[in-house]
Amino acid sequence: MGKLDIWKSLAASLGDLIFPPKCHSCGLLLPDSINPFCHSCIESIPGRGLVRCHRCGNPNPIQPDTESATLEHICPICLQKPPIWESVFCFGSYDGILREWLLLQKGRRGEWFAEILGRFFAANLPIRFPPWERVDAVIPVPRHWTKKWWLGHNPAEGLARGICGIKGWPLDRFSLFRNRATRKQSDLTPNQRKRNVRGAFAWRGLKFKEGKAILVDDILTTGATVRECAKTLKSAGFTQITLCVIAQGKTLTTVPFETR
Ligand SMILES: [Zn+2]
Ligand SMILES: [Zn+2]
Repeated sequence: MGKLDIWKSLAASLGDLIFPPKCHSCGLLLPDSINPFCHSCIESIPGRGLVRCHRCGNPNPIQPDTESATLEHICPICLQKPPIWESVFCFGSYDGILREWLLLQKGRRGEWFAEILGRFFAANLPIRFPPWERVDAVIPVPRHWTKKWWLGHNPAEGLARGICGIKGWPLDRFSLFRNRATRKQSDLTPNQRKRNVRGAFAWRGLKFKEGKAILVDDILTTGATVRECAKTLKSAGFTQITLCVIAQGKTLTTVPFETR
């Protein structure tokens, strides 16, 4: 450890002494500031550690117990008709504490919390994720400016900023944009959702050649929005796209099998 590192760690310890770190979810005092949440809050995240299809994020009904199975599992639906993106990483299921967190970061003052979630998410990504060495851009799913103005921020942007803060990947929050306002997806049927977002995104950045992008959003439900975003990214020259989402929305609220 160099002199600078020693001073940094001393300053961090002093900071912890004056402002003891607390769990950002339940307020419990934490022994250090490495994790933003306490052990019991982390343990209660629904669907955490489930073996999921690496193309769509759906949990595998049979939960094998090796990590290689986690990375290689593809569900029968994706084997027949794979999605436009190459892989997906979902942290958990949209329920319980994860639902509370996502509602909090969607709030008018939720920007700081979205970034905390993004940092926590990045620190818990599998070592071999994404499966390529270079990341050209981390791109949050854009909100229309009217919605961003209404909320005061875009939660996906906060998440992406947190992820880049930990991983050192380049954040690009301007190139992909929404060229028209759309109706709220959660009020619509799957077919209406597809029509609602069709052609709603455009690219105004430099074109890539065999680019590798990480597309970030908070919830993955039918995938209609991210599919449109991914289509736009493919036309901008990204050949490898991986989705990073905090929660999968359509998972059963009570997981029918044990988590590892
Ligand atoms: Zn807690
Ligand atoms: Zn699948």
